[in-house]
Amino acid sequence: MSSRSAYVIDPPAMASLPVRGRDQRFPVRRIYCVGRNYAAHAKEMGKDPEREPPFFFQKPVDALVDNGVAVPYPPQTKNLHHEIEWVVAIGLGGRNIAAQDANAHVFGYSVGIDLTRRDLQNAAKDLGRPWEWGKSFDHSAPCSAIVTAADIGHPKRGRIWLSVNGAMRQQGDIADLIWSVPEVIAEISASMSLEPGDLIYTGTPAGVGAVTVGDVLEGGVEGIADIQIAIGAPQ
Ligand code: MN
Repeated sequence: MSSRSAYVIDPPAMASLPVRGRDQRFPVRRIYCVGRNYAAHAKEMGKDPEREPPFFFQKPVDALVDNGVAVPYPPQTKNLHHEIEWVVAIGLGGRNIAAQDANAHVFGYSVGIDLTRRDLQNAAKDLGRPWEWGKSFDHSAPCSAIVTAADIGHPKRGRIWLSVNGAMRQQGDIADLIWSVPEVIAEISASMSLEPGDLIYTGTPAGVGAVTVGDVLEGGVEGIADIQIAIGAPQ
């Protein structure tokens, strides 16, 4: 008997990330991103950094790019921005998770770059339209390997930084998140069912700016992970 696929076309590949010290990868179900979660970045984007409720957007899981891989400069933008972010990987799902219980739902942590077509995002803001085209394009979610909470625990502080061609652009500390990781997990799970395989990009510190073809971006969160990507020619 020949095997026959259950699908009329080949199913898409499962998106995934490597896990440090393991020979198995972490399968990715959804990518949530928190907007404006550091006061200094909210100010640079022209917003009052008062503790307004957190807000979210998503990126498609096939936008993930592994550490060390070149990202082609995306179409339809002249203002591609870097946003270095601490990333949380969910290992245990739930609804209405209390902040004090949230760490038990975390599989591990990594560091990612929320690449943003800032000109398209700003145009969408002006028109009252979704951020989708500014945020959720192909290759828009570079991410390092995941480091397990079993290995490093649940960090509360640590320098977060990004340099372009060796020049420091972004610096902050994950202790300065307006909404902490447990609070973000509580907020998302009050509105959506969090599931194993979900990633959360937790927001970026101040210093976002443009990159162009040939630039090398390096960044990290102290004690968790580093990431390096290059911006390649458009596809
Ligand atoms: Mn961001």
